[in-house]
Amino acid sequence: MDKVSFGYEDVPPEEKTRRVHGVFSNVARRYDLMNDVMSGGMHRLWKAHFVSRVRPRAGEAILDMAGGTGDIAFRLARAGARVTVADINPEMLAVGIDRAQARGIDGLVWAEENAETLSFGDACFDAYTIAFGIRNVTHIDQALAEAHRVLKRGGRFFCLEFSTTTWPGFSEVYDRYSHDIVPRLGRLVAGDAGSYRYLIESIRRFPDMPGFARMIGDAGFAQVKVEPILGGLVAIHSGWKI
Ligand code: SAM
Repeated sequence: MDKVSFGYEDVPPEEKTRRVHGVFSNVARRYDLMNDVMSGGMHRLWKAHFVSRVRPRAGEAILDMAGGTGDIAFRLARAGARVTVADINPEMLAVGIDRAQARGIDGLVWAEENAETLSFGDACFDAYTIAFGIRNVTHIDQALAEAHRVLKRGGRFFCLEFSTTTWPGFSEVYDRYSHDIVPRLGRLVAGDAGSYRYLIESIRRFPDMPGFARMIGDAGFAQVKVEPILGGLVAIHSGWKI
């Protein structure tokens, strides 16, 4: 049977799906705090920049896939888009619903969905966003095919994900920080080192920028572009359905 990566381990596909579910169930209530702690708040800048690239317009329908606790969706909704936040994990969505309520953001649709097998019809969204989600998906090619299917012609695909920085020197510092410090922070802040070890390992196993761009093209998207941030520590991949 074909195996898939769960961090540095190779496991059967169902086991990856189950264990990723466990990771996000464990960290859901501390997820947002940990993002601030791990990135020194930088994830907020990356997300704001990502949404500025999406250029959400009032009234358009956007699917924020693997939307978790809502960070991207809230920004899209602020621009007046009609946003569906979809995620496989109900505990992450529950935190998102609470946060939306606390901020007085209403009108979002929250849906429990697997990115690989969406329940939405063909061609019903103007844009599809996925932030820090795709590397957790078991069959990335299936998720990309589904993204393409649910987009209208002229629809746009945007993915924000960790990648591999090409800046010399910086990659060594980042490697040490992520492998040595992040799991400790995970234990201290979220009471869970293992989940954060997985999150770091999964970044290393994710395809590099050209490799992921090729996968997006293989799913049928045109004009695929990559925008590296911090030399590719994080990258925005985009494409069009034409
Ligand atoms: N997009 C949010 C953000 O940027 O803060 C959340 C990102 S969080 C790192 C990854 C999310 O991917 C989790 O909420 C997890 O439940 C979700 N996820 C993992 N596998 C998934 C799948 N197959 N389908 C949908 N969501 C998935």
